[in-house]
This record gives sequence, C-alpha cells and structure tokens, in this order.
Amino acid sequence: ANVRELLLSRIRDVSDYPKPGVMFKDITPLLADPAAFTALTDALAGLCVEHGATKVVGLEARGFILAAPVAVRAGLGFIPVRKAGKLPGATLSQAYELEYGTAEVEIHAEDLDRGDRVMVIDDVLATGGTAEASLGLIRRAGAEVAGLAILMELGFLGGRARLEPALDGAPLEAL
Ligand code: 5GP
Repeated sequence: ANVRELLLSRIRDVSDYPKPGVMFKDITPLLADPAAFTALTDALAGLCVEHGATKVVGLEARGFILAAPVAVRAGLGFIPVRKAGKLPGATLSQAYELEYGTAEVEIHAEDLDRGDRVMVIDDVLATGGTAEASLGLIRRAGAEVAGLAILMELGFLGGRARLEPALDGAPLEAL
C-alpha cells in the first residue's frame, strides 16, 4: 500500500496535453525520484518472478525506461517493441487503430523463442490498442505471454476489457 501511495504521489497530472480535453499522466517526476523509481522497478521485477517470465518486453518509448532496469533486476533479457521502421533486422509487425488513423509496432522475431514466457511492460494503459498489438506480436513470434504489467491503468478508457481476448487468461497487473 505504501508503494502505491509513493508511486501515485510522483505522477503529475498535466491538463490539455497532448491536446485540449486530455489529462496526461506524466511519469517524469517518478523517474526523477530514486526511491520511487527503485520501488517501481522492484515491484515490476517481482511480478516477472511471480509469473515465471523468461523475457521482458518494453513498449516504446516510456515502456523502455521501465522495462530495461526491470530486466536487469530480474536477471532476464530485454526486448523492445518499436514503432514501425526502427528495427534493423527481420521483424514481425502489427497495425492497430488510433483515434485518428493507424499505428504499427514491430519486434525482432528472432529475439523470442518458442517456450519463452514474456512479461510486457509499459507505463500507462489507455485504450489498450498498443498493448493488444504487442501481445499479438509475442504470440506470433511463438512465445507465451506471462502477463502485462503497467504502472497505471486509466480505467475509464476500457483497456482492460478490450485486452481480455489478447491476454487469453494471462494476468494484467496495474500497480
Ligand atoms: P493505448 O494504446 O492504451 O491507448 O495508449 C497507451 C500508450 O500511450 C502507452 O504506450 C502510453 O505510454 C501512452 N499513453 C497514453 N496516455 C498516456 C498518459 O496519460 N500518460 C502517459 N505517460 N502515457 C500515455
């Protein structure tokens, strides 16, 4: 409960960002506070162990900042899911719908092995589109999803319900 309070106290609400009417959850104060960043890293690494993860996937871009120290802490490899066109090797890609238009995420297929159990990490779950596409990539690469672990879930956007089929029973852990 103390960790939750600490983390919450270090998230800043920024109104009308990135556009009018949106309240953005800014995690940079949390990253700047070593006690909070360490507590977050430890909590996420604990979830990796609890759910038997063998690899950690971070979602571009803030997911990278969280997932990299978690992977090191948990003694696991880190794999990036990137926006289309950024990875140099052979990729799997998955398009998904945005409010206006579409986006696409990619992964290096060879970084995952059959039998891998992947913990997917990001900062904020909003509509769930990014996570849904990323879970699809992991399954298509032949790996299992150990879970999706995020700092903060914006419950009113319905991401959890949207992700239910893609999670297929894997846990969604929101700190
Ligand atoms: P979704 O695909 O779930 O709609 O959006 C989630 C993605 O957008 C995440 O990668 C997350 O980093 C970013 N995102 C959406 N809203 C916010 C927010 O309020 N704060 C932060 N830090 N990221 C957000």
